[in-house]
Amino acid sequence: MKAMILSKIALLSENPVPLTFVDIPRPEPGPGEILIQVAACGVCHTELDEIEGRTPPPVLPMIPGHQVVGQVAGAGTGAERFVVGDRVGVAWIFSACGTCDYCQSGLENLCTEFRATGRDAPGGYAEYMTVPETYAVRIPDRFTDVQAAPHLCAGAIGYRSMRLTGLSNGQSLGLTGFGASAHLVLKMVRHTYPDTEVFVFTRTPAERSFALEIGAVWAGDIHEESPENLHAIIDTTPVWKPVVESLKNLKPGGRLVINAIRKENFDKAYLLNIDYPAHLWMEKEIKSVANVALSDVSEFLELAASIPIIPEIQTYDLADANTALLELKSRKIRGAKVLHVKKLR
Ligand SMILES: [Zn+2]
Ligand SMILES: [Zn+2]
Repeated sequence: MKAMILSKIALLSENPVPLTFVDIPRPEPGPGEILIQVAACGVCHTELDEIEGRTPPPVLPMIPGHQVVGQVAGAGTGAERFVVGDRVGVAWIFSACGTCDYCQSGLENLCTEFRATGRDAPGGYAEYMTVPETYAVRIPDRFTDVQAAPHLCAGAIGYRSMRLTGLSNGQSLGLTGFGASAHLVLKMVRHTYPDTEVFVFTRTPAERSFALEIGAVWAGDIHEESPENLHAIIDTTPVWKPVVESLKNLKPGGRLVINAIRKENFDKAYLLNIDYPAHLWMEKEIKSVANVALSDVSEFLELAASIPIIPEIQTYDLADANTALLELKSRKIRGAKVLHVKKLR
């Protein structure tokens, strides 16, 4: 099968072609696993974190990709949940232990044995992949393959972030950064919390106008003060400046939710600008979002299908994954990037 593999950790600025297009044997599903013929796989900022070594795969080479949509093409012994031809998706959660307190209470995203698709196990930048059947999700008919892909990470983690804000209808929400995840959160909020006003902070003018186009009431640069203080802000940027700058825009008791698996370190010194009275006093909170639970993925897919939320997407061939990653790094973003591996539906 054809696949894009990561063999060496390096910064994109040193190696702008981090993935290699290869022909390797198709994987065999083990006990309890299904084989998936990949139709589409979303491109996520976390892939940059894997490639550049902020959350590197424990073994190399590795096939990245954790927003996978495809069809069941086979099953290992004991895997009976799906039949060949079923359409399924695989998100960032590849597996967890299934037995610890976290797993037993729907917090498998916090399990110490959490394994991530495309980092700890081969992912969807390939024609085929295998996954434990428990961690595959059904894809609603409402979406084409490429439309469903961004929902599996950008959407699901956006949904989890939204839940972690504790927001209720009518309370104001800020979004710092306006890539794949934030644009889906904006679309979701407009339906789930119709009286909530959304304020977007992003440094690129194109993203600001895109945000206003799809329903933000205000859009400004990262360092700007919003016209009013906000109940909650979700930060989807890979850097530190927005963390400090967001805190000043929170109301008393407001919460900043950081939706990033890793932050880059080049602007970490910006944290020294934290001013306790302006940024933290008055019971302001900072909370991170770690991974996704299976329920985030399936609940968000159902919600997105019922609204519906159709993501704005740009598609690339599997062999052009490096181009998609470079464009993501240089913030040439409008919506979500998806590798269209095979036209199935
Ligand atoms: Zn992701
Ligand atoms: Zn566990």
